[in-house]
Amino acid sequence: MSAPERRELLKEVFARAQACTRCAELAATRKTVVFGAGDANADLMFVGEAPGASEDEQGVPFVGQAGKLLEKLLLEIGMRRSQVFIANTLKCRPPANRDPQPVELENCKEYLHRQIELIQPNVICTLGNFATKLLRQDPAGITRVHGQPEVVLLGRRAVRLYPIFHPAAALYTPRMLDTLREDFARLPELIALGPPDQPELPPEVDVPDAELNIPAAASAPDARPAGEQGGEPDQLDLF
Ligand code: URA
Repeated sequence: MSAPERRELLKEVFARAQACTRCAELAATRKTVVFGAGDANADLMFVGEAPGASEDEQGVPFVGQAGKLLEKLLLEIGMRRSQVFIANTLKCRPPANRDPQPVELENCKEYLHRQIELIQPNVICTLGNFATKLLRQDPAGITRVHGQPEVVLLGRRAVRLYPIFHPAAALYTPRMLDTLREDFARLPELIALGPPDQPELPPEVDVPDAELNIPAAASAPDARPAGEQGGEPDQLDLF
């Protein structure tokens, strides 16, 4: 499937996520659904934990202090934010920034897997414990597994998974920042390896997202001011 075709499908998943009410508490308390942003055809994807207050306000992931550090570390390896795709394990902010609950991670996993299938990154960098445990499907913590790339199968796609510390954890701990910087420095060589060998799978049965148990977007309330309604939702120019 071509990159433009994959982007169109990603826009459909985006529209469905906007209307999601699987997690009643999160749906009732969020201001925006923070789907993800960046290059929809990126080689490198970051997966963080969940939106915080700034992200919930703006509808964009990693726009607070942790995001500024992420951008700085990217620049240090010669990359810009617009060249990568950034998403989270949860698309909605947990109230008072509490930890994601297991049921919420489960509810939201399908959106993340679909994003990965459509973006087709070669490398997925998980930031911190929640994303790392979710995508490795293993309880081993980030302190043990950071900086160790491995090939994993996510949905139908083999990707190089690369766990690193969450930038928020490194903000106030210089030693952790040093480690994060060292782990970051290996990203260019991992990206240069290209995609890992893909598994031989039977041809994909074309299952519309509607049948993947992702709720329909039709009933989504349009929260934008009347003058801005119609056309594509606001976040779409983010990828
Ligand atoms: N921390 C995260 O894990 N994700 C964000 O989007 C912002 C901060």
